[in-house]
Amino acid sequence: MALDFNLTDEQRMLEDSVYKWAVAWLEPQMEHMYEVDEMPPTIFKETANLGINGIVFEEKYGGTEMGYVETLLAYETIARVSNALSMTVGASQTLCFDNFRRNATEEQKMAVLPKSCTGEWIGCLGITEPNAGSDAMSMKTTAVKKGDKWIVNGSKIFITNAPVAQIMLFYAKTAPEKGPHGISTFFCEIDKVKGKGWSCEKIKKWGMRTSPTGLVTFEDMELPEENLVGGLNKGVAVLTSGLCTERITLSGCTLGSQRSCLEMSLKYAKERVQFGKPIISFQTIQEKIANMYTGYLASKWMAYSAASFCDAQTSKSGGKGTDLDRMAAAALLYCGEMGTKIGLDAIQIHGGYGYCTEYGVTRHFLDQKLWEIGAGTSEIRRMIIARELMRDDFKSGR
Ligand SMILES: Cc1cc2nc3c(=O)[nH]c(=O)nc-3n(C[C@H](O)[C@H](O)[C@H](O)COP(=O)(O)OP(=O)(O)OC[C@H]3O[C@@H](n4cnc5c(N)ncnc54)[C@H](O)[C@@H]3O)c2cc1C
Repeated sequence: MALDFNLTDEQRMLEDSVYKWAVAWLEPQMEHMYEVDEMPPTIFKETANLGINGIVFEEKYGGTEMGYVETLLAYETIARVSNALSMTVGASQTLCFDNFRRNATEEQKMAVLPKSCTGEWIGCLGITEPNAGSDAMSMKTTAVKKGDKWIVNGSKIFITNAPVAQIMLFYAKTAPEKGPHGISTFFCEIDKVKGKGWSCEKIKKWGMRTSPTGLVTFEDMELPEENLVGGLNKGVAVLTSGLCTERITLSGCTLGSQRSCLEMSLKYAKERVQFGKPIISFQTIQEKIANMYTGYLASKWMAYSAASFCDAQTSKSGGKGTDLDRMAAAALLYCGEMGTKIGLDAIQIHGGYGYCTEYGVTRHFLDQKLWEIGAGTSEIRRMIIARELMRDDFKSGR
């Protein structure tokens, strides 16, 4: 029997509606917004209307109760126009709010998730610190209990959406002497702590512009007891529970750019005439186009098969000792590296015009490189894959 690699009618409808919106609403403002490095302020209201914000959330929180395949599809489709804004939506909805949903109490979820679904609240997730990147467990941020309050000190760097967010989910050491077993998860309502121990400085980047990135500083920030998420010293479990869905769904950001780079290059190569012929008639250009197509298709099915496998699991958390951990790391590893390669080929096909901002292909290229760094670098993903292969000697064949 044939394996069915086709989208369902419902998935096609989602793709169509998101793509029509991205072309009509996002595309016309992208060149300017990229230049000034500003996020379109109402984007989360727009994605709320499309049902993307709470795409995997239960209806009681305002969600659409779809799966990670649909999340990946939505992120891929936004990224066909803007990789950076797809990342911004993913950082809020998957990294912050979906992880919160997986680990918070019912009371906490009812207080937070509905506002994320309507686009009223944007989220961000704080793991990385200036001296703790790949080695996240060596974080220095602390939360110390004083009476019925937590006092937080430290900093988080490269935090997507921090300059515009209302909710921050973050990790801090609550028992530093216990190492990774002394980390806890907290959330803060930024409006309540801004200027009172929470501050944020926007970071300038050469790619992923329009997606705001911040350096957050906590200075004696007070949080109420109930802002602890997932239990005292249970932070590592919370953190790892979100990494697989993050790596799988954010593969969509690079998929969207890969597809657009291929489409734009194909169109340009047919139109651009040199030596009296369209440049697509030259074999070295055809080779690039063929490689782009092959790379995109391979990336696409790695990511979608990982998302489909994830949707079929009872626990979507993955983590050490699961096939999902290896598949998620492999999907983003492949998509990320292929994205950079395809982006470079697209620039080359566009010649000098590709080096200028007019064709949009440059934005995709600049954004793509991030996917070899963010959500765990390529080196860290290879370490995860090798660790999981050594665990089961590839007996599962996945
Ligand atoms: C635009 C952007 C958005 C981001 N968004 C977020 C966010 O929302 N939230 C968040 O918490 N973080 C975010 N990050 C941070 C990102 O996850 C980190 O940059 C990443 O994990 C790498 O950490 P680092 O930059 O400190 O590099 P380092 O860990 O210092 O790594 C430097 C180099 O050394 C390599 N290396 C490190 N350890 C090993 C090892 N054991 N073996 C082999 N090689 C190794 C790395 O692979 C890399 O090549 C974002 C980063 C960027 C640039």
